[in-house]
Parts: sequence; C-alpha cells; structure tokens
Amino acid sequence: MAIERTFSIIKPDAVERNLIGDILKMIEESGLKVKAMKMIHMDRAQAEGFYAVHKERPFFGELVDYMISGPVVVSCLEGENAIKAYRELMGATNPADAAEGTIRKRFAVNLQNNSCHGSDGPDTAKTEVAYFFNDDELVG
Ligand code: ADP
Ligand code: MG
Repeated sequence: MAIERTFSIIKPDAVERNLIGDILKMIEESGLKVKAMKMIHMDRAQAEGFYAVHKERPFFGELVDYMISGPVVVSCLEGENAIKAYRELMGATNPADAAEGTIRKRFAVNLQNNSCHGSDGPDTAKTEVAYFFNDDELVG
C-alpha cells in the first residue's frame, strides 16, 4: 500500500454548524494524518479556479456562491491510499446515497451542501494541495 497525500475541505455548511471538530475526529480516527491545515474564506476567483473542472456544469454558479458563503477549513491529509480512503470516509456526493458511518451521511444537508471535499485522484490531489498550500506549510 502506498502512502499518499490528499486534499480536504470542510465546507461552509459544516463550519457554520460547528462541525469542524466532529469531522476532524472522523478523519483522525480513520488513521489519516493532518500534514497542513488552515481556515480561509475563499474569494470568487479562488473558488472558480478551484472548481474550474466544473465550469460548464449547470450548478457551477451556485456551487461557487456556496463555497464563498463562509469560511472553510482546508487541509492536506496523508496515509495509506489516502485519496481513496478519504473518498470512502466522505461517502457519496449525494448524502441520500452515502453509506452509514460516512461524513456525508452523518452531516451533509443536501447534494450541494455536502460538508466536505476530497481529491478524486493523484493528479488532482497534487494540484489541489498546491492550490492552497506552499511547501513550507506542509509541516505535519
Ligand atoms: P465530489 O465532491 O463528490 O467529488 P463532484 O466533483 O461531482 O463531487 O462535485 C463537486 C461538488 O459540486 C459536490 O461536492 C457538490 O457540492 C456540488 N455538486 C455536485 N453535483 C451537483 C448537482 N447536481 N447540483 C448541485 N451541486 C452539485
Ligand atoms: Mg470532485
């Protein structure tokens, strides 16, 4: 098994409902290590750039509005097969389809306000970590 890094966002709906600690507890109990973490409030350009892959999707505008509606907690996580492991811990994008015991099953409000983001592959993980963190911030 490979040690990987992935990128995580605790999204505005979860920060707003005081769920940072609960979600971090699930992340840490799963064995993933926090390598870097900070709270930020994205501006529109930053959120549009982060979600550029979705810019042709009908929900893009609302997704960006939501992601800049309040602060988020971004982090770099490390562990065995971290990318897949964190996707599994998050659960399906739509909480209605998410498995028991996942972050989205427990906390997500709806398909858009689904409490967390995790990279979907090695290339996106690298790009997304670098989008928010300089090398000297990866201290964990
Ligand atoms: P994931 O976050 O599971 O990787 P996607 O990359 O497909 O999912 O979508 C990015 C984010 O866009 C989702 O987490 C969710 O917040 C939002 N989203 C996805 N699909 C829809 C949709 N059909 N309507 C509204 N928001 C959506
Ligand atoms: Mg995605």
